[in-house]
Amino acid sequence: QSIISFKKVDKVYPNGVHGLRDLNIDIKKGEFVIVVGLSGAGKSTMLRAINRLHEISSGEILIDNQSITKAKGKELRLIRRDIGMIFQSFNLVKRSSVLRNVLTGRVAYHPTWKMLLGLFPKEDKERAYQSLQRVNLAEKVYTRADELSGGQQQRVSIARALTQKPKIILADEPVASLDPVTTEKVMDDLKRINQDFGITIVVNLHSVELARQYGTRIIGLRDGSLVFDGPVAEATDET
Ligand code: ADP
Ligand code: ADP
Repeated sequence: QSIISFKKVDKVYPNGVHGLRDLNIDIKKGEFVIVVGLSGAGKSTMLRAINRLHEISSGEILIDNQSITKAKGKELRLIRRDIGMIFQSFNLVKRSSVLRNVLTGRVAYHPTWKMLLGLFPKEDKERAYQSLQRVNLAEKVYTRADELSGGQQQRVSIARALTQKPKIILADEPVASLDPVTTEKVMDDLKRINQDFGITIVVNLHSVELARQYGTRIIGLRDGSLVFDGPVAEATDET
């Protein structure tokens, strides 16, 4: 059963640059997909099209059989609630605690005036704590985000996405700024979340080597076009 479906998707930026060209992709529930390609190939555009952080120019994208392309207002918010996002630059509030950062992932979706004042229900705190346990950061709940290493910060952002209980997690070059050892920890966390919860994960990477090590399915993009889509074993360096 397909959870992300691209139907003839094109994206042309206002300056005429083609971000995506006639993209047809089906991703099934529970898949762990890695998107590779050189800088400028369209990886980030593809990922951001999935949760409509970027609008596409033509075609349609279905999330769990619902059109996110056509969705408006509440409908769009409901679809987006199922999609967690992880960025290269972590996007944490530097001066806030780890716990607060993980909790604010939920504020965006269910804000109440109490939450805006920083008061969170006990269940939310428990859930945030459980997410932090999944990424082995439970002992850092009260540490300020900017006191953590890059890898730890990225794992906080994974916990933040997880707390949202998403069906899909999108990770845009999540390890681009990390060293090899830390990279493995972050990739292992993503893989484990995929296996333990069956969350569908789409990760952008520029390293084909890393993609081969972790992916089960690799999508290759070049100039916005699909140039490879298949199992890891068949992926070559030209992918
Ligand atoms: P990747 O993530 O693979 O590096 P991107 O999706 O960021 O590639 O970019 C794909 C192409 O679209 C590139 O040529 C890039 O310069 C262009 N692009 C990306 N964002 C914009 C934008 N906001 N306006 C114009 N062109 C853009
Ligand atoms: P983000 O989308 O997270 O802000 P990006 O790295 O995608 O970060 O791009 C930074 C800014 O530059 C964005 O406003 C994006 O729209 C713009 N941008 C990226 N690539 C291009 C490009 N080739 N031409 C014009 N603007 C671009």
